[in-house]
Amino acid sequence: MQKINLKELIIKKAKENLAAGDFTARELAEAYLKSIEEKNKDINAYLEVFDDVLVQADRADRKIKEGGAGALLGIPFAVKDNILIKGKIASAASKILSNYRATYDATVVKKLKESGAIFLGRTNMDEFAMGGSTENSAYGVTKNSHDTSRVAGGSSGGSAAAVAMDGALAALGSDTGGSVRQPASFCGVVGLKPTYGAISRFGLMSMGSSLDQIGPIAKTVEDAEIIFKAISGYDALDSTSFPEKMRESIRNPKKVIGVPYEFIEHGGIDKEVLQNFKTSIEKLKTNGYEIKDISLPHLKYSLAVYYIVMPAEVSTNLARYDGVRYGVEVKGENLLDTYNKTRGLGFGKEARRRIMLGTYVLSSGYYDAYYNKATSVRALLREDFKKAFAGVDAIATPTAPTPAFKIGEKTNDPMAMYLADIFTVPVNLVGVPAISVPSGRTKNGNLPLGLQLIAPWWGESTLFKIGRMFEA
Ligand code: GLN
Repeated sequence: MQKINLKELIIKKAKENLAAGDFTARELAEAYLKSIEEKNKDINAYLEVFDDVLVQADRADRKIKEGGAGALLGIPFAVKDNILIKGKIASAASKILSNYRATYDATVVKKLKESGAIFLGRTNMDEFAMGGSTENSAYGVTKNSHDTSRVAGGSSGGSAAAVAMDGALAALGSDTGGSVRQPASFCGVVGLKPTYGAISRFGLMSMGSSLDQIGPIAKTVEDAEIIFKAISGYDALDSTSFPEKMRESIRNPKKVIGVPYEFIEHGGIDKEVLQNFKTSIEKLKTNGYEIKDISLPHLKYSLAVYYIVMPAEVSTNLARYDGVRYGVEVKGENLLDTYNKTRGLGFGKEARRRIMLGTYVLSSGYYDAYYNKATSVRALLREDFKKAFAGVDAIATPTAPTPAFKIGEKTNDPMAMYLADIFTVPVNLVGVPAISVPSGRTKNGNLPLGLQLIAPWWGESTLFKIGRMFEA
C-alpha cells in the first residue's frame, strides 16, 4: 500500500489512487478513523463516529474491484447531525432529539450512497442549526484546528472542522444564513450554499424552510463541484425543489465582478479582513476581471429581515418537537405539562429565544408590523440583486466580518453573534448561490479568511469557474 497523505488528498486524486490500487477504500477509511481518533478528543468535530465505516468501505472495495462506477466511490464523508441517515441517530445537536434515530435517508444521503460515498460519522453543530459558533450545541463546542482557543464557526462547525483537521475528505452542512460558508471560511476550507431549490431538503431537519439549503464543505472548489453535481437535482419529495428545465442559468459572462463597497466599508469590519479583501480584489483584477462598484440599497436591512423571517419559520418548524412525535419525552401531569416540560428542558437557550421571537412576530397585532414588513423588504432585496446581476457575473464580499473569534467571546451577546452573519444572510434571503473560498490568513494569529462569491440564480458554474481561478 502506498502511504496515504491525507493533507494532500483531494477527491480526484483519491479516486485515481483507489482505481489504481495504490490503497483500498478500507485503508483510506482506516487512515481517516485514525486521524479522527487522534484529533477529535480535542476538536470535537464529531458527535459520533459510526461503527460500520469499515463495512461500508469493504462494500466500496468490492465495487471498485468489479469495475463499478460512482462519482464518490470510496470517498469518506462527514455529515451534519441534522441530515438523516437511516438507522443512525440524528440529534441536530439538541437534547430533545438525543435518542432519535432516522427512519429513512435524506435524499442527499441516498444520492451519496448511490455514488459510493462512505459515511464516517455525524458532526457537531449549533442546536437545530441556530448559531454561528457551535456554542449552542448541547454537546460542547467544536474547536478550530488552526487555533484551539477559537471557534470553528457554525452552525456547520463540526463539518468544517472535520475537513480542516483531515478527519474527512469532504462533508455536508446546511446553510440557512451562512452556516456552510462561515465555518468554511473560519477553518480555511471551501463551502458552497447552492441556489434555493437546487438540492433536495427532504430529510434535512427544517430550520427556516424558505432559506435552508444543504451544501458541500470540501478542500477545493473542484471537490465542492463534484459533490454538488452528485447531490443536486429535482426531487418530487421536496415541493421547493426546482424541476431541471426551470434551472435557467445565465448567459454571457462579462468578466465583471460587483462589489458593494458602501456596505463593506461601512465599519464594524475587522481591519485585517478588509485588507485581505482588497488583496483578493486585486487578484481578481490580475486575472482579467473588471471590478464594478455596485449599489444594493436594501442590503442594510438584511439582518433585520433575516432575524424576523428566520425565527418565524423556526417557531413553526420546531413546533413538531413535542415529546410525543419525536425524541425525548419529559412526562408531566397532563398533556400541556408534558409539552412544557419536554420543550423547556429539551431545547437550549437560543432555540427557546428564537421560538419566542418567532411566535411574537407572527402573533396577531404584530404580524403586519414585523413579518409582513420583513417579507416586503425581502422582495425589494431580491430586486436589488436582480438589477445588480444585469451588469455583473458575480458579487464579491468577505465571507465574514472577522476571522474565527475566541470561544466564549460572544456567547453573552446574541446581537454580536447575529452581526457575524452580515455578509451571508442576504444570499439566503434572495435564494442565490454563493461560495466561500480561502483567501489567505491574518498576519495576527495566522487565522484563515474567506472570500465570498455570489452568483445569480442557478449560476453555480460561474462560482466554480471564478473560485477555481481564485484558489489557483
Ligand atoms: N448564524 C446564522 C444563524 O444563527 C445562520 C445559521 C445557519 O445558516 N443555519 O441563524
